[in-house]
Amino acid sequence: MNKATRKAVIAGNWKMNMTPSEAVAAVKKTAELTEGKNGCDVILCVPFVDIAPAVEAAKGTHVKIGAQNVHFEAKGAYTGEISAAMLLECGAEYVIIGHSERRQYFGETDETVNKRLKAALAAGLKVILCVGEVLEERQSGITEEIVSMQTKLDLAGVGAEDMKNIIIAYEPVWAIGTGLTATPEQADEACGIIRGVLEGLYGKDTAESVTIQYGGSMNDGNAAELLSKYHVDGGLIGGASLVPEKFDKIVSAAQ
Ligand code: PEP
Repeated sequence: MNKATRKAVIAGNWKMNMTPSEAVAAVKKTAELTEGKNGCDVILCVPFVDIAPAVEAAKGTHVKIGAQNVHFEAKGAYTGEISAAMLLECGAEYVIIGHSERRQYFGETDETVNKRLKAALAAGLKVILCVGEVLEERQSGITEEIVSMQTKLDLAGVGAEDMKNIIIAYEPVWAIGTGLTATPEQADEACGIIRGVLEGLYGKDTAESVTIQYGGSMNDGNAAELLSKYHVDGGLIGGASLVPEKFDKIVSAAQ
């Protein structure tokens, strides 16, 4: 496998935006605009309460629906949490795990990210695993160490076979929601580092088959150049995914 044969995936992360009725309208519009653009998979990761209506709105279209987090326990006294089985029954196919906002604001660690990831896979969800360095780490020249360490810890105990159901999103924290974007060269280099770690863990064939996305202020103006890079197989898009017209242009850039 190589860039030409790896699956390109453009995923939206709506974060804490869109009520259920807004979600239905946005899913329908996104599906309508991106119809026939089959050169990439299109996923929208929506707030928990939007999942069921979003799945209904996406029925019969190529848009797939995902969640933005999942708890690692199957059930029990975990007030406010949502299990993998709950997500699946609502129709979610994907779940984002380890987003930097979860790590920054909600105390996620590589240990809990790893537990969530294993629980999601065991239940049958596909995972978008986020890794990425903060600004001070990049400025200190330790991006490679940070991204490699996160990838290894988050995937601890995960077998090569499971990598078919995992997408990795390289998301430099300093580029998320800031309007700052990694240069295509920086994005390619970091995605290449992640692919190198995967090769060490699972061998070359698996490493070359895994979809690695870039995320961090990707928009209709910079998507084509970022996506042209060898190791960048798609995008995880926050702000621009809330506007179907903008998101569609990124999907077009991935064709
Ligand atoms: C994200 O939320 O994963 C993200 C990349 O956000 P934004 O595109 O807004 O930077």
